[in-house]
Amino acid sequence: MLKPPILSITGMLLPELEALCASMKEPVYRAKQILSWVYEKGATTFDRMSNLPKSFRTEMEKKCSLFQTRVDAVFRTDDNSEKFLIHLSDGNLIESVLLREGTRITACVSSQVGCAMACRFCASGLLGLERDLATGEIVEQMLHIKNRLLSGERITNVVFMGIGEPLANYDNVIGAIRIINAPWGTGIGARHITLSTVGIPGSIRRLSREGLQVNLAISLHAPSDAMRQQIVPANKKTGIQAILAATQEYFKATGRDISFEYVLIDGVNSSKQDAESLARLLKGIQCNVNLLPVNPVEEFHLAPPDRETVEIFYETLQKYGIITTLRKRKGDDVHAACGQLRIQNTKFYGKR
Ligand code: SAH
Repeated sequence: MLKPPILSITGMLLPELEALCASMKEPVYRAKQILSWVYEKGATTFDRMSNLPKSFRTEMEKKCSLFQTRVDAVFRTDDNSEKFLIHLSDGNLIESVLLREGTRITACVSSQVGCAMACRFCASGLLGLERDLATGEIVEQMLHIKNRLLSGERITNVVFMGIGEPLANYDNVIGAIRIINAPWGTGIGARHITLSTVGIPGSIRRLSREGLQVNLAISLHAPSDAMRQQIVPANKKTGIQAILAATQEYFKATGRDISFEYVLIDGVNSSKQDAESLARLLKGIQCNVNLLPVNPVEEFHLAPPDRETVEIFYETLQKYGIITTLRKRKGDDVHAACGQLRIQNTKFYGKR
């Protein structure tokens, strides 16, 4: 039985767990022992923690939830990636993805159940926002992925590109990043963690003061406010200039180049002129652009541009000196575009 997220071990930072151990009249070093079982040895029950006194294990089992989520299904893609459908204690479903590209193994995690942003091409917003994920529910996605790795494999990168808008769930996402980054946690270097956002200027500025050197990716998708408004409705509140100004602050604080994500949609934002406008917009910003032909979502009737259009867009940005990467679409065969799997299963099964 999954327990609701009360005293969630996977949502705790080391000092919090130490305080809990002390409150249970145990030495504080027990905290490190527990964390080592969870993050290094892959324990999923307190019972397995053989160097802890039996009475303490029983007490912890009663008081805390170690895992508050479970894997419902794993879908393997043709390109060796794996998509996880994860079941939360309240019956909601989220998705996480394990992407294999040579020695690079990326965990793509969700930050919310659903999303309030309603971007016009993204399945995650189709049912609106249900709720935020707790810190432990985010961290557990990493652990589920870790437990599926083959021997010799390890997670090298983490991207907050699953369901949800991470900056709209700020505190829990920052808590999860600290655990993912911690040497006693999953130990992934901040420079290998990417937070992808629709762009909330106040939260980006706040992030620049956290002392975390994570990569910041902005889902831009258009070179002008008029066009972006059509694709990303949240832009009406912020506007592109305020987002760019906040990214400059982030760059000053962290020294990290900013990434801009640009989903190419046929007949909408993918002409040569759009590429030129984008290059002018980003002139002088330390950045790189990731181009991604849109993954078609049944409900939206949008298609990726043909190959030639994509290449012209890519080459135009290159010509203007913008570091550009053309991403391959991955996982179409298992509906791996953001939020597609959850939508299909929620429609199919309802909440469980
Ligand atoms: N809310 C955050 C993070 C989740 S989306 C954000 O907006 O960045 C992660 C990335 O996947 C975003 O760049 C988003 O635009 C992209 N994405 C969503 N649906 C997609 C689709 N159908 N095809 C291609 N990319 C998609």
